[in-house]
Amino acid sequence: MEKGTLLYEGKAKQLFQTDDPEVIWVEYLNQATALNGAKKDQISGKGELNNQITGLIFDFLESKGISNHFIKRLSTNEQLIQTVDIIPLEVVVRNIAAGSFSRRLAIPEGTPLKTPIVEFYYKKDELDDPMVVDDHIRTLELATTDEITQLRQMALEVDDALIELFDSIDIRLVDFKLEFGRQKDGTILLADEVSPDTCRLWDKKTNEHLDKDIYRRDLGDIIPVYQEVLNRLEKRGE
Ligand code: UDP
Repeated sequence: MEKGTLLYEGKAKQLFQTDDPEVIWVEYLNQATALNGAKKDQISGKGELNNQITGLIFDFLESKGISNHFIKRLSTNEQLIQTVDIIPLEVVVRNIAAGSFSRRLAIPEGTPLKTPIVEFYYKKDELDDPMVVDDHIRTLELATTDEITQLRQMALEVDDALIELFDSIDIRLVDFKLEFGRQKDGTILLADEVSPDTCRLWDKKTNEHLDKDIYRRDLGDIIPVYQEVLNRLEKRGE
């Protein structure tokens, strides 16, 4: 398979064409951003870690029957994915109060939620990704009623699977963000990435943050922490 021209450059990844229109070549970058890009740094090794972690997690989700766009890892910082049309929604699932949820509703970080909460945010940098409800999603024609139902259901299935995965490596899954895409025939696939950049992961014993909050909140170096998540996932797979 040949790496072709650059199709898209995001904050953390570059997407390249291949000789197969149904396949995209992804390169994970070392760039870290927060606050909608206002905070930005190059962090050597981050791309490799997220590429490897995402690959292991997508393989695990596939084994649990959750269809996703991941095909295979090519190198430490590259992978092949299936072409999809990304639905411009960030689907956030929360198990424990944290971050914007805690700030908005004055619920202290760390408060367990009785049932998982699914939220939708409209992916639109100019608007700072506002939260939207089903009626907004339909009005903006981002997804149909049936698709919204499917997104919620898939997000909760991913939650169940990831709670099990992280629990087995002594990590509490606080919350995470997913993105989905449509294939040509309309089938919805889980897409983008699942990594410490997109999940809040707390060590079960120490409550230590094993995720991007280390960067967002200037708590230290993310590399040893992301490496720890990868090590635990790899050890589990042995
Ligand atoms: N998240 C993400 N990308 C975003 C916004 C949020 O991956 O653009 C993830 C974030 O890592 C966390 C979850 O979604 O795991 C919920 O984030 P929250 O709404 O609490 O936002 P924050 O506190 O980061 O502003």
